Amino acid sequence: MSDLIHYRLEDGLALIGLASPPVNALGQPLRAALLEACERAAADPAVSALILYGATGLFSAGADISEFGKDIAYAAPFLPDLLLRLSQLEKPVVAAIGGVALGGGMELALACGYRVGEPGTRLGLPEIHLGLLPGAGGTQRLPRLIGAESALNMMISGQQVSAEHALMLGLLDRVTDSAEGLLDDARAYARELLATGSPARPAERYPNPAVDLSDDFFQSYRAEHEPRWKNRLAPRLVLAAVESACLLPLAEGLLREQALFKQAEGSAQSAAQRHVFFAEREAGKIPGVDASTVLRPINKVAVIGAGTMGGGIAMNFANAGIPVTLLELKAEALDRGLTQIRQNYAISVKRGKLSEAQLEQRMTLLQGTVDYADLADADLVIEAVFENLEIKQNVFRILDRVCKPGAILASNTSTLDVDAIAAVTARPQDVIGLHFFSPANVMRLLEVVRAAKTAPDVLATTLKLARRIGKIPVVSGVCFGFIGNRMFEPYSREAHRLLLEGASPAQIDRVLTEHGLAMGMLAVQDLAGIDIGYLIHESRREVIGHDPSYCKLGDELYALGRYGQKTGAGFYRYEGRERLDDPTVTALAERVAGELGITRRDISDQEILERCLFSLINEGIQLLDEGIALRSSDIDLVYINGYGFPAHHGGPMHYAETLGLDNVLAGIRRYHDELGAYGELWLQPAPLLERLVAAGKIRIEKI
Ligand code: NAD
Repeated sequence: MSDLIHYRLEDGLALIGLASPPVNALGQPLRAALLEACERAAADPAVSALILYGATGLFSAGADISEFGKDIAYAAPFLPDLLLRLSQLEKPVVAAIGGVALGGGMELALACGYRVGEPGTRLGLPEIHLGLLPGAGGTQRLPRLIGAESALNMMISGQQVSAEHALMLGLLDRVTDSAEGLLDDARAYARELLATGSPARPAERYPNPAVDLSDDFFQSYRAEHEPRWKNRLAPRLVLAAVESACLLPLAEGLLREQALFKQAEGSAQSAAQRHVFFAEREAGKIPGVDASTVLRPINKVAVIGAGTMGGGIAMNFANAGIPVTLLELKAEALDRGLTQIRQNYAISVKRGKLSEAQLEQRMTLLQGTVDYADLADADLVIEAVFENLEIKQNVFRILDRVCKPGAILASNTSTLDVDAIAAVTARPQDVIGLHFFSPANVMRLLEVVRAAKTAPDVLATTLKLARRIGKIPVVSGVCFGFIGNRMFEPYSREAHRLLLEGASPAQIDRVLTEHGLAMGMLAVQDLAGIDIGYLIHESRREVIGHDPSYCKLGDELYALGRYGQKTGAGFYRYEGRERLDDPTVTALAERVAGELGITRRDISDQEILERCLFSLINEGIQLLDEGIALRSSDIDLVYINGYGFPAHHGGPMHYAETLGLDNVLAGIRRYHDELGAYGELWLQPAPLLERLVAAGKIRIEKI
C-alpha cells in the first residue's frame, strides 16, 4: 500500500488516513492510493464501516494545483469517478474532518455518507475564485444535503463556513468537543451507525432540492445577482449546475456538472483567474531573499499619524493580536484617531462580525501617545503623516534618534522618494516603504517598496508580516508612485483628456465598469478627492507642464472648490450617496476644449476603453523594463487588489497578452498618429513592448 495512505483495521472499522502533506491535495497518486484503500475496505468482510481522516490533522484543501489545466488532472482515477465509487460503497463511510475541507476536499467529504468535524474546521467550495465550479459532484450533492439556496450561496460566494455554521446547515452531522477527540468521536459515531443498523448512506435530506423554493426562485435570483456578475461566466455556470440538481436525477446531474465544468475550465476567464492565483505565489519570490534569510522578530509595532491611513494601518496589527502604539503630534488628533478606530470596530460589531469583547480586546492592544520616547521598544514603526517630503524626513530624523537598533522604519508614502527619506537616517538599510491602500484595514494590497539600501532581512521580515496581517504584498522599486500610482497617472490622464475631446464622465465610467472595473476613473477621482489629485499634479508640473490639456478639467474643478464627494460635487453632483450627471461639467469641458483648440467629437466606447487601458498597459510594460516591477504578474496583482481591475481579465498585463501584444502595439501607434501633438507627446509605445513584438513574444517579460 502507498505511503500516501495510512490504513489500519480496528475491530471492524477501516481507518483510512490521507497522508500527503502539507494539505492532502488530491493529485493523481493520492487519488489512486485512496481508491485502492477504499476497495480494500469494501472487499474485506472484516470491515463494517470506513473512516476517512487527515493523517496529519488536516483533511484536504482540494485539488492539486500543479495539475491545473494538465492531462494528469483527468488521469485515472479521475476525482469525480473516485467520489462516485466512494458514494456507492455498501458500508457506511464517515469523514472525520480536521482543519479544512475545501474544494475537492469538501467534495470528498460530501461523497461520504456521514461527516463529523472538529471545532475550528472550515468548509468551503472556493472554485468560483478560479473561474470554475465544483466539478466532482459538489454542485449536485450539496443541494441535496443542505437545500438549493444555501448551496448556491456557498458556491457563488466561495466563502468558507465554520464548523458550527456547517452543523446548522446540515453539512456536518456532528462537531466534536475538541480537535484531539476527532478520531475517537468518529469511531464512536461509526459504531453507533453500525449498532443502529444505519444505511451506508442516509436518505437525502433534500431529494428534490427545489421543493422549498418559490417557482420563480432561479429567475429572481438571476435578476437580483446578474448585474453584479457583469460579464463573469463562472457564477452563471454555478447557477446552471444547481438548476440541474433541482431538475435532473443525480446521475444525469453529475454528467451535466461535468459539461459545465469543462466549459468553465476552457474559458479565458478561468485561465485569467488561475493566472492570478499563481501570481500570488510568485510574488513572494524575491531576488536576494530566500528561506535562509533570518527574520527580525516583530512583537510590537508603532504607527505615526492617526489620520485616515494611520488608524487603518494600526487596526491591521491589533486584528492580528500585535500591540500597536499610535503617535500623534497633539492629544486632540490622537483622541480623534482612536475614536475613529473604535467607531470602525463598532460597525463590525453591529454587523455581527466582531463581538463586544473582541472590540475591547483590540482597543487594549492600541496605545496612544504624543511622546516619541514611547517608540523606543517598537520593532517596526510605520509613518503615515502628511504627504510631504520635508515633514516625513523630519519624522525619520527623530525615529533615527529614538528607535532601538534593528527596528524597521517604514513609510506609507504614496508617491515620495523612499531613498530620500532613508537618506536622512544613519540606518538606511532599515528603511522601507509600506504602501497600504485605503481603507487600510480592508484593502488587501500592500506595496512593499525596496529602497536602494533596504537590507534583505528587512524586506523578508515585512513580507512575512504582511501575510500575517492578511495582506498580499507586492515588491516595487522606488519611482514616482511606485507600481500602482505610477500606472494610475497615464490612465487618469487619458480619462481627463477624453472628457475634453467629447466623452462625458458617465460614458467613460460606464465603459470601464462594463469592462469589469470596480469603479470608473472619474468616480474614483471624486472619491479620492480632486484636491488630492491637484496636489499631485502641482508636484509634477515640471513633467507635465508642457501639455496645457493635462488633467485640465480636474484642475478647473479644483479651482471651483468641487473636490468630489466630500464637497457634494466634482465630476458628478451628489445627493447623499447618489451620483448624478452634472451639465455644468459638460459646459466646462466645452469651454476648456475651446480655449485649448481641441475639437470635440463623438467618442466611441471602444476608443475610451482602448485609450484608458492601453495607457495603463504601456506604463506597466515600461515599469517592468525599468526594473521597478520584478515581473509582469506582480503588476497584475497590484491592479486587481488595489485598483479594482477585474480578476477575470487577469490584470492589465495578462489582459494585454490575451489581446495580443502586436494588437496592443498597433493600437498605441494608431492613437499616437491620430491624436496629433497630444498623441506625439503621450502615446509613445514602451520600448520593451516594441522589442517584445519584434521578437515575436506573446508573454510580457523583460528581454
Ligand atoms: P491624514 O491627513 O488623514 O492623516 C495624517 C495624520 O498625520 C494627521 O492625523 C496628522 O495630525 C498627523 N501628522 C502630521 N504630521 C505629523 C507629525 N509630524 N507627527 C505625527 N503626526 C503627524 O492623511 P492620510 O490620508 O492618512 O495620509 C497619510 C499618508 O498616507 C500620506 O503619506 C499619504 O500619501 C499616504 N496614503 C494615503 C492614502 C489615502 O487614500 N488617503 C492611501 C495610501 C497612502
